[in-house]
Amino acid sequence: MKRVFLETYGCQMNVADSELMAGVLERAGLELVARPEDADAVILNTCAIREHAELRVLGRLGEFARLKRENPALIVGVAGCMAQHLRKKLLESKRVLDLVVGPDGYRDLPNLLLRAAGAPVAEIRLDRDETYGDLEPKRDAGVRAWVTVQRGCDKFCTYCVVPFTRGRERSIPLVDLVRQVEHAASQGFREIVFLGQTVNSWRHDSHDFSDLLRAANDVPGVRRIRFTSPHPSDMTDRVLDAMGSCEKVMPHVHLPLQSGSDRILTAMNRTYDMARFREVVEGLRSRVPGIALSTDIIVGFPGETEEDFEATSAYMRETRFDSAFLFKYSARPDTRAFKWPETVSEEEKGRRLTLLIEQQMGIGAEINDTLLGSEVEVLVENISHRDSSQLYGKSRDFKTVVFGNDGTPPGDLARVRVVGTTAVTLLGESLKTPASSPLVSIGG
Ligand code: SF4
Repeated sequence: MKRVFLETYGCQMNVADSELMAGVLERAGLELVARPEDADAVILNTCAIREHAELRVLGRLGEFARLKRENPALIVGVAGCMAQHLRKKLLESKRVLDLVVGPDGYRDLPNLLLRAAGAPVAEIRLDRDETYGDLEPKRDAGVRAWVTVQRGCDKFCTYCVVPFTRGRERSIPLVDLVRQVEHAASQGFREIVFLGQTVNSWRHDSHDFSDLLRAANDVPGVRRIRFTSPHPSDMTDRVLDAMGSCEKVMPHVHLPLQSGSDRILTAMNRTYDMARFREVVEGLRSRVPGIALSTDIIVGFPGETEEDFEATSAYMRETRFDSAFLFKYSARPDTRAFKWPETVSEEEKGRRLTLLIEQQMGIGAEINDTLLGSEVEVLVENISHRDSSQLYGKSRDFKTVVFGNDGTPPGDLARVRVVGTTAVTLLGESLKTPASSPLVSIGG
């Protein structure tokens, strides 16, 4: 067993977990390869949050079954939330599988792979103490380093499998996190993104999330700090004050709302109501003027009436999020809501989703239009994949900006004037050397 192919599905937490696994495997002397055909073992790091995500992984396993017929010694593994969610059912129903490993089993991954070469292995124990805080992830080169600050979740929203697949909330000690931030900065990463299921509930000993933001703000070499995703209930005044006073903490927050109806928020067990959410938004906007806000919304939750939906739509018009991830409710086994009758048809969910998408696209475009002619600071990420005469990066408020290549290297800051917009991208011209080529409408 020498070469491992690792493929990642789902959220940024999973991407960070794959970096963690890659570090564990490389330290054990294994080589990571880019193609499953070149591997002795393939591992899919999976997501269970929506049925669609699981179906994609099952389809991919079908492709690996073909590879295994050609190479019977190939080890096929499933890691992550879906592994934890479906557990032994996966091993029993998917003959192609040799290894099922849940989110708390990665420390021992090299050994598990060796054992799986003899007989199928399932390592699905949840460990209340495992944080991997002492392990160095293997990050691909870039300007942005994702730093996981906590694992698991204690919120138990009634639609969500995460507390069952990732276990109870555990925070990594401040000293380990500061060391990770310093290490990432020394490797050339200029932007740190703290990650957690409810990242702002991070707490260790006497420290809370505001202390973590302040500590990271003091690390030399770090230019920008972001975090995702905070929970509205954990947005304390201390966190808001730290956001207002730490110059490296960027003016953008992804704050999941899920529904604009108190009735539905209660049914979802979100632990806040609309009055509290409004308070948090006001607190953010007063501490960090001009802050960009994005959100998550679920439409068609069991019991959602037209009135509830209209409350969500009205609040989105009132607050004017810069962007939103909008989803149709998808019932997940093991959750409380799974047992509740679905009261909104698929067709009606689709109608509500389309209405919100159209509304949000209009609001996002209007907000972007207000930026026309303004100057923005862009952390350059790379040359555009589609046009090498263009660079792309993120503005301070997390908008993708594409502008003429003025030679600014990745990781440096560029001053850019916004001269055009698309639905999701700002088009700019460098203020270092005036752009000479016509700007084209492309994404990063
Ligand atoms: S806060 Fe709710 S939605 Fe988010 S991970 Fe925890 S249970 Fe899931």
